[in-house]
Amino acid sequence: MLHSMAGTTRYASVLKECEAWWEQEGRAITDAVDRAQTPWVRMFDAEGKRVDEILYSPDYWRMLKRGYRAGVLWRAFKDQSLLPSFLLIYLTSFYDCGLTCPYTVSLSTALPLSKYASPAIRERFLPKLLREDDSVWQGATWMTEIKGGSDLGANVETVATPQADLWRLTGDKYFASNAGAEVAVAAARPKGAPGGVRGLALFLIPRWREDGALNYTIRRLKDKIATRSVPTGEIELRDSEAYLLGTADEGIYLILEVLNVSRIANSLGSVALAQRAIADALNFAESRIAFGRPILDHPMLRAQFEERVRDLRAAFALAWHAGLLLNEVWQERRPYSDRYHLFRLLAHLAKYWTAEFAVQTAKWCMEVHGGLGVLAEFRVERWLREAMILAIWEGTAHRQLLDALEVIDRKKAHGTLLQYLGPVSTAEVREMVEAVDAQLKLPPDERERTWEPIGARLAKVTADALLRKMPAS
Ligand SMILES: Cc1cc2nc3c(=O)[nH]c(=O)nc-3n(C[C@H](O)[C@H](O)[C@H](O)COP(=O)(O)OP(=O)(O)OC[C@H]3O[C@@H](n4cnc5c(N)ncnc54)[C@H](O)[C@@H]3O)c2cc1C
Repeated sequence: MLHSMAGTTRYASVLKECEAWWEQEGRAITDAVDRAQTPWVRMFDAEGKRVDEILYSPDYWRMLKRGYRAGVLWRAFKDQSLLPSFLLIYLTSFYDCGLTCPYTVSLSTALPLSKYASPAIRERFLPKLLREDDSVWQGATWMTEIKGGSDLGANVETVATPQADLWRLTGDKYFASNAGAEVAVAAARPKGAPGGVRGLALFLIPRWREDGALNYTIRRLKDKIATRSVPTGEIELRDSEAYLLGTADEGIYLILEVLNVSRIANSLGSVALAQRAIADALNFAESRIAFGRPILDHPMLRAQFEERVRDLRAAFALAWHAGLLLNEVWQERRPYSDRYHLFRLLAHLAKYWTAEFAVQTAKWCMEVHGGLGVLAEFRVERWLREAMILAIWEGTAHRQLLDALEVIDRKKAHGTLLQYLGPVSTAEVREMVEAVDAQLKLPPDERERTWEPIGARLAKVTADALLRKMPAS
C-alpha cells in the first residue's frame, strides 16, 4: 500500500530490503519477543554496582538496531525530511507496532534537541542519536506520572532546580517507554514556577551523569498486554542532571510539539497494523471453506472486506497527510502559523480515527478467523492486543477529540481545513464544517457533551476527502 498510496519514493529500495529482512528473519523474532513477555531488569552487576540493564535476547537488539541502521532517525536529518522516518515507521508497524515506539520516541527526542537545545548540548548529544551503526543512542519521552497522563498541568510533580549550568530533577515517571534510553526528554516544573500547564518545562536527561554514574534508575518494567518490543518502565529521577530545552516559560508548547510527532507515528502505526490484520484475514478467508466455497466468496463477507479496504485507504490518507503537514511545519516556533494549527487538527483527528479503526479492524479480523482467531498460536489475537494500546498511549480518544475541538475553537482550524481540501472537499465535509460552527455556539459543557459524534464524523469525512488527494486515487 505504501507504494500505491504514497507514490514511489527514493526510499523504495531501502523499504524493499527491510521488508525482505522482516519476512526472512524479523517475523520469527518479533513473535518470540511477544511470547517471551516482559523482559527482566538486571539492577546490579556482579560487584553490586547499580546498572539497570534490560535483558532482552540478542535477537531483539538485532531487530531493533536494524531499523536505526536503515535510517529511521539519521535519514530525517541527512535528507532534511521526516518522510523516510514515517515510511520506515509504517513498514515496521506492519510487523511489530511496539517496536515502532523506540524509533518514534527517539525521533521525538532528536527533533526538540536539534531545535531548542543550546549549541553545546546539541553538539554533545544529537550526533549520537544520528549514528548510522549499532552504536546509535536512543531517545525517550517521559511526561506521565502516577496521578495521570491526560491532565499534565495538574499531575506532573517532578521538580527542577537550577544548579550552575544545569538543572537537577527529582520525581517519578510512571509510564516511561524505552526505559534504558541513553537520553530522554521529560516534563518537570521548575521550582517556584506557577501551577498548571504554564509552569511546565521540557528537559533533556542523559542516562549517565557527567561523572559516569547512572543518572536515573528503573524501578520496574510494566507487564503489559502487548507492545512487548518496547520496555515501558517506572523511572526514578533523584537529583538527576538535566538540561533545559528552550525557555522555562514555553515548556508546554515544546511538550505538545513532542507529543504531536508521536501522534503522527501512532497514526501511521495504527493504519499499518490494520493493514496487517486485514491481510491475515484475507489470506484466511481465501482458504477457509464453509457452505461449499471459500468464506471470502460469500457476498456479505466479501462486501465487508471491500468496505474495510476502502476505509483502510482513507485512514492511510488521513495519517499520511497529517505527516506531510508535520514535515512542512515542524521547524516552526511560536507564534505558529495557520498551517501549523491545521496540522494540529489533522494530527488529533488522525490519532483518534486511525486508532479506533485499528481496534475495530483487529476485532473484526479476529471474527473472520472464527474460533481460531482467539488462539495465541495465530497472530490475529496479538494484533487486537497491540491495537488496544495504540488507542491509549500518546493520548486517549477523549483527549484527541477535545484537543481537536480546542484548535477548532481557538484557531478556527476547520476553516483552514476546508481551504486545504480545496477541490477534493465534498458536500459532506462542508456540512460537517457547518455542524462544527453550530457546535461552537453552544455553552462549553453542552458543546463538549455532544461533541463526540460530530468529531468522529469530521474525522471520517476528512479521511474520505483526503483519499481523493492521494496519487493513486
Ligand atoms: C504501554 C504504554 C506506554 C506508555 N508510554 C508512555 C511514555 O513513554 N511516556 C509518557 O509520558 N506516557 C506514556 N504512557 C502514558 C499514556 O500517555 C497515558 O496512559 C495516557 O496519556 C492517558 O493517561 P492515563 O493513563 O493516566 O489516564 P488518565 O489521564 O487518568 O485518564 C483516565 C480516563 O479518563 C479520560 N479523561 C481524562 N480527562 C478527560 C476529559 N477531560 N474528558 C473526558 N475524558 C477524560 C481519559 O481519556 C481516560 O479514558 C504510556 C501508556 C501506555 C499504556
